Amino acid sequence: MDVSIVIPAYNERESLPELLEKTTRVLEKLKLSYEIIVVDDGSRDGTFDVLKELKQQYPVLRAIQFRRNYGKSAALAEGFRVARGKIVVTMDADLQDDPEEIPNLLKKLEEGYDLVSGWKKKRRDPISKTIPSRLFNYVTARLTGIPLHDFNCGLKAYRSEVIKSIQVYGELHRFLPVLAQWQGFRVGEIPVRHHPRKYGKTKFGFSRFFNGFFDLITVLFLTRYKTTPLHIFGMIGLSAFIVGFFIELYLTILWFMGHSIKNRPLFFLGILLIIVGVQFVVLGLLGEMLSANFAENMEYSIKEVIE
Ligand code: UDP
Ligand code: MG
Repeated sequence: MDVSIVIPAYNERESLPELLEKTTRVLEKLKLSYEIIVVDDGSRDGTFDVLKELKQQYPVLRAIQFRRNYGKSAALAEGFRVARGKIVVTMDADLQDDPEEIPNLLKKLEEGYDLVSGWKKKRRDPISKTIPSRLFNYVTARLTGIPLHDFNCGLKAYRSEVIKSIQVYGELHRFLPVLAQWQGFRVGEIPVRHHPRKYGKTKFGFSRFFNGFFDLITVLFLTRYKTTPLHIFGMIGLSAFIVGFFIELYLTILWFMGHSIKNRPLFFLGILLIIVGVQFVVLGLLGEMLSANFAENMEYSIKEVIE
């Protein structure tokens, strides 16, 4: 099997017939063997009935129905688990991603990338979504050091090694390129065409932005600081402690010179910084104890072995 297309779908009944038609048309032209896996994420609108009908028309279709709505990450994870292709392409079910871009993604993979992400350069979404999303992408790129413009594009192509070695759960699908690069995979990006949503409505409300930033912290901890928690906690703690220490030193000198210091706000700030600083260092040490414990089961991402 050359290519598996994985499509998470939650209440996308209207879009699926058109999506299948366009996708198969593109793939037939490529002369590759392929399968299309749609994971119905607990839809309540009869999405799965539509899939059953489509199966008659498209034997390449495989459909999985979750008993309840688990979220996009879970749907992707299940699709990844059952995918048989050497290359896996993910796509949203709502026709916002254009199947015509699949050949371009594959071409970019051939240049030696392990993951190629789409970049919705001209994004067809309401401004309430595009502006926070810019900020999100900017911060994520800065903090992770991965120079992508668009982390959360539904359209992505992966070599199968990538999806078999990363775990997506919660809402970490926004960070698949980060998790992949952290394992040493080469991550690339190409601009892709994006369409406005034609049917149904978006499944992510305003909470996405908060969740996205919380997940960014989670991902930073799970990647950069997982085995070195004291590096981050210790840095914050020590800085706070040092500032607090010098504040109190300065006030002590004033006190010896005969000034009254007990009503000065600075006095309390100094104490606060010292206490918080110590707490952070201790938190880092606790983290180190945890990571020493799981170091035994540490798994490294291995590319090749010669024996
Ligand atoms: N999706 C899903 N489970 C969910 C939410 C979304 O499988 O709980 C799917 C949805 O059907 C779509 C894709 O994830 O195929 C992206 O969702 P949406 O288009 O609502 O996101 P947006 O384009 O607004 O970022
Ligand atoms: Mg969408």
